[in-house]
Amino acid sequence: MGLSPPLLTSGSRSGGVESPFLFLLPCSLLPAPLPLLQYISERRREFREVSEMPGEEAQEVAEIFRAYGLSDEQSMPLVKAIEANPIQWINFMMRFDISA
Ligand SMILES: [Zn+2]
Repeated sequence: MGLSPPLLTSGSRSGGVESPFLFLLPCSLLPAPLPLLQYISERRREFREVSEMPGEEAQEVAEIFRAYGLSDEQSMPLVKAIEANPIQWINFMMRFDISA
């Protein structure tokens, strides 16, 4: 574990199942204006939402596409594809979920 970043190490100790998801993210996905600690807490919140209420969170994805003019028929396969990859799902919510 010598090469692990400190955040990953502390997350693994305290976190349980959520740890691997929380901190495995490419730096390119860090939104510049968001301070790191705020980003981490929001990412933790999105992880919790995706794991504890996936139905509601999938609805949020559909709503985001709806706001871009896609019909439910058009967005359904996209929502399913995002649901199939939880890490990218969280990345997507971090980028597009402006509800909080
Ligand atoms: Zn959310």
